[in-house]
Amino acid sequence: MTGSQIIDKAIAEGRILLTEVESKALLKQAGISVNDTRLATSKEEAINLSKQIGLPVVLKVASSDIVHKSDAGGVKLGLNSVEQVGAAYEEILQATRKQYPEAKIDGVAVQKMARPGVEVIIGMTKDDQFGPMLMFGLGGILVEIMKDVSFRLVPLNRLDAREMIQEIKGYPALEGHRGQEPSDISALEELLLKVSDFANRNPQVREIDLNPVFAYKNGAIAVDARVILENKAAQI
Ligand code: ADP
Ligand code: MG
Repeated sequence: MTGSQIIDKAIAEGRILLTEVESKALLKQAGISVNDTRLATSKEEAINLSKQIGLPVVLKVASSDIVHKSDAGGVKLGLNSVEQVGAAYEEILQATRKQYPEAKIDGVAVQKMARPGVEVIIGMTKDDQFGPMLMFGLGGILVEIMKDVSFRLVPLNRLDAREMIQEIKGYPALEGHRGQEPSDISALEELLLKVSDFANRNPQVREIDLNPVFAYKNGAIAVDARVILENKAAQI
């Protein structure tokens, strides 16, 4: 499906939350770096996809009614065998159906288990007065507590992107410390610029959440993505 078909389908179904699979497909078409993520609608399909993708894989609940997948017992990481994949498929459906009996569940998303990197967050929200705004921060629990994030208005230029990365207090973590590899800052800049450009060209998108993005020595990739559409869009 093209990006506008993905958006149109959600609107036709009267929903504003795109699933992770839809969000990643949409963002990928805009050149935003996301990991390949496919939908399985049965245990057998999940096993077949995990063989195609290559173990270890991650399984996550796919539902436009569930915003926080891990809180719902909907994420299983580091699955190393087809047996583990099959069991995870059933456990995810069982846990999420129990917690959200009303939720419409499309199936389970299958993706490669990414190698560890520095976890960062990139977000887009809209300010009532100033319009779309990007947020950048380090991922993980510390940042949730510290609120160590930076903001810039869309559209960003390269200097804005560089500054918003450098001005967070946790910036040294991206420069590499205690033997950890330095992160690819220009890949993060590129990601911010692409998200800015996407937000600028898609006014029907209200919110974007790439959480987390894994930053590496070479490159950066979002392993979770959420796109929320404007309410108005769903009412048309
Ligand atoms: P949610 O934010 O909806 O709870 P996520 O998709 O962010 O679910 O998954 C929860 C956590 O699992 C992430 O913060 C990340 O640390 C880890 N994770 C998710 N996808 C992958 C992946 N493909 N490879 C490695 N770790 C992952
Ligand atoms: Mg997440």
